[in-house]
Amino acid sequence: RQKNPVIRATSSSNPAQNDGFVLEDVPHLTDFLPDLQSYPNPLQKRQAYVMFKKNFVTPEDVVAQNIVIQKDSPRGVHFRRAGPQEKVYFKSDEVRACIVTCGGLCPGINTVIREIVCGLNYMYGVEDILGIEEGYRGFYSKNTLKLSPKVVNDIHKRGGTFLRTSRGGHDTQKIVDNIQDREINQVYIIGGDGTQKGAARIYEEVKKRGLQVAVAGIPKTIDNDIAVIDKSFGFDTAVEEAQRAINAAHVEVESVENGVGIVKLMGRYSGFIAMYATLASRDVDCCLIPESSFYLEGKGGLFDFIEERLKENGHLVIVLAEGAGQEYVAADVHAANEKDASGNRLLLDVGPWLSQKIKDHFTQDRKMAVNMKYIDPTYMIRAIPSIASDNIYCTLLAHSAVHGAMAGYTGFTVGPVNSKHAYIPIARVTEKTNTVQLTDRMWARLLASTNQPSFLTSNDLTQEITVDKETFPLDFFFHFLRPQPP
Ligand code: ATP
Ligand code: MG
Repeated sequence: RQKNPVIRATSSSNPAQNDGFVLEDVPHLTDFLPDLQSYPNPLQKRQAYVMFKKNFVTPEDVVAQNIVIQKDSPRGVHFRRAGPQEKVYFKSDEVRACIVTCGGLCPGINTVIREIVCGLNYMYGVEDILGIEEGYRGFYSKNTLKLSPKVVNDIHKRGGTFLRTSRGGHDTQKIVDNIQDREINQVYIIGGDGTQKGAARIYEEVKKRGLQVAVAGIPKTIDNDIAVIDKSFGFDTAVEEAQRAINAAHVEVESVENGVGIVKLMGRYSGFIAMYATLASRDVDCCLIPESSFYLEGKGGLFDFIEERLKENGHLVIVLAEGAGQEYVAADVHAANEKDASGNRLLLDVGPWLSQKIKDHFTQDRKMAVNMKYIDPTYMIRAIPSIASDNIYCTLLAHSAVHGAMAGYTGFTVGPVNSKHAYIPIARVTEKTNTVQLTDRMWARLLASTNQPSFLTSNDLTQEITVDKETFPLDFFFHFLRPQPP
């Protein structure tokens, strides 16, 4: 959280109306370069913008984080609304922008790259745009790539990242030295939580050196685990593509005796993809996510549930998020605590582990042979191009970032808050991740749709109830509450 949120003075004649208004503002270049000159936004000459004057946002336009508030309660946290402003702090022919992509793949990265390039060029007439190849280390170990609308014209139809990516290799000093040497003055950084922390460091160093360089982050995570924003790009595409794997599993298990299908989906710390893919499909019998710990043995455990469904339907499909059940796998498999080049803990592969556990248990303990079909489509999902809705979303993200940088904002990320795009301080999206709340309605809807065990104990429930009385759908949970494990 930003240390000094701007608390705007009450201007209204009715003081109660502005009570508790907090603007969590993003930094602006003039904070440390007070003499910086501004210019009229070149978009003012465009017909579309002349016709629709309201397309410009003013520095007064803000977006509320909480859309539902009680009468007389504080208005709460707001963010600056994204969009073109009447004043810009760069002359178009003096802009030298660069784009870098870091971390894992996600559908839509290429659309974001394309739309930053086209947005800068078509809206602001910027011609000098560089691609930094292979992530952060590309700043100091690679030549740059010249980007233009022509070069990126078709890339949104492909998966992956046109600029390639890497993990590790963030050296703030070397990166900012390079930004300075190459006379870059706008830096667009596309990547996950690690990448955005790196972007914050670049911004701090740029500020320390007093450079006129705008640093804009575009948050990327297929898991939809970014705090504050409504949804991350690539998420809808992932849920859509997951349907194909779930369908395949369903076809397989329907065709054999005692068919058990397991589909592993992305979700290291949050189970949004698994939850939404399950809700969309209707072929899933059980969804396991990191937020809801499950158990195998005993009354109300997974094995009992599998047997029940096999007896009822002859087959079942389980959707498993990759971060689910890590505590069990760690106890069984000897390999915990390995890390990747960026220092992220590597997860143990829960898919094969769970498949084996189920097979062993049913053949040995229940004398019931199961036909196990295990599908891991995770790399295939990450690699596809984004679907139409994500393409539109990626375009808005890219254009918001471009408008923000041109307007002189820096050290910010972009994303929709209650469906309006906003500029958000980087720290707000890196300090906390978004997870599925077991007490929210969506998880209750999932339990209602699959009729799977909730795996919650009465203890979990009483704790949760005290936390979230408002949204807690009690009747649902008690309905699905099964006896506790022995
Ligand atoms: P994903 O969630 O897809 O893995 P990510 O952005 O979190 O994406 P990482 O591999 O963790 O992926 O990080 C990407 C880049 O950010 C790497 O180059 C890494 O060196 C850098 N980075 C990670 N954490 C930090 C940090 N705390 N400070 C500075 N740079 C960081
Ligand atoms: Mg990460």
